[in-house]
Amino acid sequence: MTATTAPSWERTQAEQLDAFGRMLDRLRGYDAWSGRLRGITAPAHLDDLLQVPFTTKEDLRAGQAERTAEHPLGAYQLVDTAELAQVTSSSGTTGAPTYFGLTRGDLGRWNSRIGDAYRTAGVAPGSVVALTTGMAIVAGGLPYADGIRDAGGVLAWLGGQTTGRMALGMQRLAVDVLVSTASFAAHFADRCEDELGVPATSLSVRTVIAGGEPGAGVPHIRRAILDAWGATRVSEFMGLGDVLPAMWAECEVGQGMHFTAAPDVLVELIDPETLEHVPWAPGATGEAVYTTLTREASAVVRFRSRDQLAITQVDCACGRTAPTMRCVGRTDDMLIYKAMNVYPSAIREVVLEAASPVLSGTMRIRKDAADQVRFDSDLPLEVELREGVEPQAAEAELHAASALVRDRLRVRVAIEPQPFGRIPVSDYKNALVYAP
Ligand SMILES: [Zn+2]
Repeated sequence: MTATTAPSWERTQAEQLDAFGRMLDRLRGYDAWSGRLRGITAPAHLDDLLQVPFTTKEDLRAGQAERTAEHPLGAYQLVDTAELAQVTSSSGTTGAPTYFGLTRGDLGRWNSRIGDAYRTAGVAPGSVVALTTGMAIVAGGLPYADGIRDAGGVLAWLGGQTTGRMALGMQRLAVDVLVSTASFAAHFADRCEDELGVPATSLSVRTVIAGGEPGAGVPHIRRAILDAWGATRVSEFMGLGDVLPAMWAECEVGQGMHFTAAPDVLVELIDPETLEHVPWAPGATGEAVYTTLTREASAVVRFRSRDQLAITQVDCACGRTAPTMRCVGRTDDMLIYKAMNVYPSAIREVVLEAASPVLSGTMRIRKDAADQVRFDSDLPLEVELREGVEPQAAEAELHAASALVRDRLRVRVAIEPQPFGRIPVSDYKNALVYAP
């Protein structure tokens, strides 16, 4: 790929704006969008986008609830089911999964874009690429598999087997690119050594493509992954099931992830408080907002990702003109429990399902430090008892709650009942996590 001849980022954004206007004209023809887009004119400048309402996860969920026999994917299913080629789903970490349809055209564009991300991240013809995802339907499943092949990689889909089988596959197939979450990449190196009786550094992994969670950009985590595998490159990778599973990928320079989805997705950087645009400049931070410019089966317009980005550079030495960034967190407090993403809101939901008769509903996870994201032992969860309920009287329910969290979310919590009134409650959003 001759990235040196790529158009400037300004030019790319201008082309995206043109495509945005064409997409508006198309979406206006659908009931699901005509009301939301009433009075919205084609944008001439980037700031004209500010008049366009956001799409949120809640909107997509509400749309899915309006299922009909003709449109099983709900109000935002824009084509007949017969025109769909595939359905994918979000991981459902924050609640019930949402499902998305893809037409054959959509699928072709996804393959190309996800392929671009993998090419940027270091997959080349001849690369033997291990995919460790276990589930096909999620963004990191079949869509990633298609993208790896599009980039010319030899797909070795090892996920979904026991760790022993996966380790054996890594060795026998001489895998040189490992695709996994940052947490799993570190954990899996240890397991390979246990299973194979040789250190993971003696295998042939040289590039680790790490996505699905923030972390691989943090220097000590990156160093640990490199050392664990004897690798020479860690490429961070990021996308969103609701928009496109791979939109950002780190090049060989290693200073952050480039935006790689430009022809099909428009990205804006906004201040999550003022909702104004933040310029793409090194050091700037903001929330990514995405619009699918070409998606036929379903579309999102100005989808709020809740991903907080920090821009690292706008003139990468590799010649790619899209800015690079690190994802510095989620506006909504995602935690990592062993190699899994977990949302405090999901834990609260399950705890209340099991124990609401004895609980007030107020609860919070205690961190050791404000910037702690990872937990390797039981999550300390303070829950407030209802007024007049004694801790002994709540024992059975609280035990049932931790069991349900373990079964449902595969997370262990250490529940600490607190008397009513002990946990401070504010009238604005109450933090579900805190550090004393
Ligand atoms: Zn670059």
